[in-house]
Amino acid sequence: MSPRVIAIDGPAASGKSSTAQAVARRLGWAHLDSGALYRAVTLATLDHLEERGAGGGPLWSPQRIVALADQLPVRLVLVSDVFKPEVAGVDVAEAIRSARVTRRVSEVAAIPEVRQWVNAQQRRAVEGHPRGVVVDGRDIGTVVFPDAPLKVFLTASPDERARRRLAQRGDVIDAAELRRESDALDARDRADSTRPVAPLKPAPDAIPLDTTRLSLAQQVDQVVALADQRLPR
Ligand code: C5P
Repeated sequence: MSPRVIAIDGPAASGKSSTAQAVARRLGWAHLDSGALYRAVTLATLDHLEERGAGGGPLWSPQRIVALADQLPVRLVLVSDVFKPEVAGVDVAEAIRSARVTRRVSEVAAIPEVRQWVNAQQRRAVEGHPRGVVVDGRDIGTVVFPDAPLKVFLTASPDERARRRLAQRGDVIDAAELRRESDALDARDRADSTRPVAPLKPAPDAIPLDTTRLSLAQQVDQVVALADQRLPR
């Protein structure tokens, strides 16, 4: 039986999490932001593990990252149908959005052992949920839940994504800031798309949705309409 999952993938700041959360609310399902889990593991790594010096190879031992994530633990806690990231029992929803974490998360997420660990958490969360889960990320439709009955691949133009990200943070939106943000998003997308393991790409059966000219309400409506077709309630 295919899992009760809607997979929403796409590049950074394409509106995945806001869309996934609103779709989940409309369907009475839960929302799981897989990026939040990668960010929480990155936060724990930066706070607790020494980086190795230069000389090639990963900067941290993959085994030590995974052991740390198990011990602290890094985990997802279901609160009002939203899976929230916790590190050592502390809610880190805000801490994981810091520039320090954002700069390093793609490096940690490129480590195969970390991906296996994160994927196991996601599959456990979905198995334990009585209704269904809208999961957003980069590899949900390709790797984590390849049998999901609905997969959506969200995109938006680089400028629009940078604008949304600055607006979300309440930052000034001038040309220089837009360029800086757009360059930072681009660098992260390039790292996420070119890594050997589970690169960012649409699943062959994903439905593409360009949200550049859509409001959040419009994109949510479109995904809910697809869910109504594919997952009769
Ligand atoms: O979605 P968000 O931008 O918060 O994700 C942060 C980072 O986590 C991404 O840039 C990517 O490196 C990693 N990620 C991933 N696979 C996912 C979700 C996120 O590699 N499914």
